[in-house]
Amino acid sequence: MKGVLIIVDGMGDLLNSQLGDKTPLEAAHMPNASFLAARGHLGYMYPVKPGFVPESDEATISIFGNDLISSSRGQLEARGTDIKLVRGDLALRANFATIDSLKDGHIIDRRAGRTLTTAEAEILAKAINKNIKLSVPFVFKATIGHRGALVFKGGFSDNISGNDNVYNSGKTLVSDKVGQCKPLDDEDNSQYTANIVNEFLEKTFEVLNNHPVNEERRKRGLLPANYLLVRGAGIEVPKIKQYKKWVSAAYMPLEIGFSRASGMKTFSFNYPPLKKMDVYANLYEGLAKACKFSIWVLRKNRKKADYAYIHLKETDIPGHDNKPSDKKEMLEYIDKTLFDFLRKFAPPNKIKVVITADHSTPCKNKAHSADPVPVLFYDGSIPKERKFTESECRKGTLGRINGKELLTKVGFLK
Ligand code: ZN
Ligand code: ZN
Repeated sequence: MKGVLIIVDGMGDLLNSQLGDKTPLEAAHMPNASFLAARGHLGYMYPVKPGFVPESDEATISIFGNDLISSSRGQLEARGTDIKLVRGDLALRANFATIDSLKDGHIIDRRAGRTLTTAEAEILAKAINKNIKLSVPFVFKATIGHRGALVFKGGFSDNISGNDNVYNSGKTLVSDKVGQCKPLDDEDNSQYTANIVNEFLEKTFEVLNNHPVNEERRKRGLLPANYLLVRGAGIEVPKIKQYKKWVSAAYMPLEIGFSRASGMKTFSFNYPPLKKMDVYANLYEGLAKACKFSIWVLRKNRKKADYAYIHLKETDIPGHDNKPSDKKEMLEYIDKTLFDFLRKFAPPNKIKVVITADHSTPCKNKAHSADPVPVLFYDGSIPKERKFTESECRKGTLGRINGKELLTKVGFLK
């Protein structure tokens, strides 16, 4: 193995008063990241381009040297599940959400409060698949948390919008109302496709709103998961650069789908189910499993693969929830486990290591931002004291990088 790329989702942040005006990276005790930083170089990266607020898929696609493709999200999500796809099948990313009613269509919560358990999501998915009748076959698959993949079988157009206005208008919130999926050209097939998806979404509310699972949730003071927000319509596997000599350790459907579509040998594990309402207990459990699994993948493939790609998702969530202490704690956990392993694994095997993020998710913004992300490149240079923080990265010798240049810059891509 020559190199390891680790993407810590949403790691970049801004100074936070809850952490004594430090960023989570600055506040975290990360001796192993400091060890790697000292023997390498720091820099900062605009994952897509300056001023652009990336979604995870856009950033990942860009960091792996590709141009952005608008229709990739649904396809990548669906390819990260066991749904079988053929060309022309329409795939969308879907979120369980809460709306007030179909008539008013106000979005109460885009993720049904993030409290939907795995068992609840599976029961609701079953109800959708069983009770909705359409003129075309479809499959809805609940994946992790509020997330799901939705596929309509047939020959569709992917030139349609989603039904969440947040994602339809340059990522700024213009409306808290659900929209309709709209055709984005005047082809008959785009109109037909939009009609099918809209008919499906309307029926989804009818099936979900008074479903016993949601009645029970209301009784417990929880938001009902009574609607789906969809986005990223795609009808074919995105044409992206191939990474045949890479292995990937992935567990989010999007990451699994991206790794598979990029030709990587993809290793994944089943995410621990969310059993009760305690989302953070589940995240810490998931992170522990992910770090352990990543170490196993690295060990197993040391002689078999040239490069490894590891994506850790959990750190993005406390950014969305404005929980800087949790973000700090997660970073410390990654340092204590995965980075501690790398500190012992990389030097004797002459393996280079890149640690970066797909975007910043500043806690105080509760959303992704256009701020550049910190980059650490360990290459076994003569030690010089450095700490892996946003501000030190701004002054680092790697300088400013655009996502698309990263792998070439560190020599992982010729
Ligand atoms: Zn992300
Ligand atoms: Zn995020």
